[in-house]
Amino acid sequence: QLPKEPPKIHRLDQSVVNRIAAGEVVQRPVSAVKELIENSIDANSSSISVTIKDGGLKLIQVSDDGHGIRHEDLGILCERHTTSKLSAFEDLRSIKSMGFRGEALASMTYVGHVTVTTITKGQLHGYRVSYRDGVMEHEPKACAAVKGTQIMVENLFYNMAARRKTLQNSADDYSKIVDLISRFAIHHINVGFSCRKHGAVRADVHTVATSSRLDAIGSVYGVSVARNLMEIEASDDDPSSSPFEMHGFISNADYAAKKITMVLFINDRLVDCSALKRAIEVVYSATLPKASKPFVYMTIVVPPENVDVNVHPTKREVSLLNQEVIIEKIQTLVESRLRSSNDARTFQEET
Ligand code: ADP
Ligand code: MG
Repeated sequence: QLPKEPPKIHRLDQSVVNRIAAGEVVQRPVSAVKELIENSIDANSSSISVTIKDGGLKLIQVSDDGHGIRHEDLGILCERHTTSKLSAFEDLRSIKSMGFRGEALASMTYVGHVTVTTITKGQLHGYRVSYRDGVMEHEPKACAAVKGTQIMVENLFYNMAARRKTLQNSADDYSKIVDLISRFAIHHINVGFSCRKHGAVRADVHTVATSSRLDAIGSVYGVSVARNLMEIEASDDDPSSSPFEMHGFISNADYAAKKITMVLFINDRLVDCSALKRAIEVVYSATLPKASKPFVYMTIVVPPENVDVNVHPTKREVSLLNQEVIIEKIQTLVESRLRSSNDARTFQEET
């Protein structure tokens, strides 16, 4: 029998390519919220408020008081690979902004309906314009606006039936969104954050700009958490190994929780690092008699050329040079701090 004829290879339609790529950048409502908040932070905002309807599937709205978007840029704002943050690939080495790929807004227009309202400094009125599949649906309309930018994403995944269904069936994303904003709020303490469900009077996260990290942690995670934290700091400036600076707060021996809370920023990016998380968990379970899980807020700064921020489509993971060495140093420090906290507690209990 003759082999079957090979199937013909053809080029995918650009709109198909874009929708597939968009589904990777915006995996769930919470990923859209993360991108929008990062844009607001990149725009130098001092106040960011988020409103969510139906776990983000009906509506995600992020308003900021940042520098706004120029009228003449609105035409290409939501095209793929349009950005104000990066020009040459080499710039990635020293990039300070969280965004750089110009893909977030574009992606949202391929899997949802995006409306942007923005005003720049010195203007008498703002502009509002809606986008679909990367392009403006109409010329920007003049409108009243206060300061900054408001981005509304409606009907997320309206054109991805399977995604919509799985998200509707799973517990909705609202708690993930609250969790995300809580994390941003204790890192960017010079920015006030709020997050509420559409129509709700009470916000589920509400912070005001402050200079005290501990106050921020207290207002987000509760004073009972803030009261049981120890400040830690470490640095290594030996250029031959892996220079880093670490600063943070970790729970003491009196803190009790069933689940670990680990908030980690590396070079101001909110990331996951399972190796570091495990290293810290191990220390807590080995040191504390009661198996309480830790609360950890940690910010690590390394030379920009030692971290690759472009290893993951959601930018949730980064790869760090000599990660093991850094983790080990941090682990040793956490262990000694926790040990003395536990000894002090045992001593208190005995006397
Ligand atoms: P990136 O952040 O990677 O540049 P995005 O698609 O997220 O790509 O945004 C595209 C561009 O739109 C940004 O480079 C920025 O210039 C502008 N922009 C997006 N959101 C805001 C905002 N909230 N305030 C001001 N400018 C914004
Ligand atoms: Mg962005």
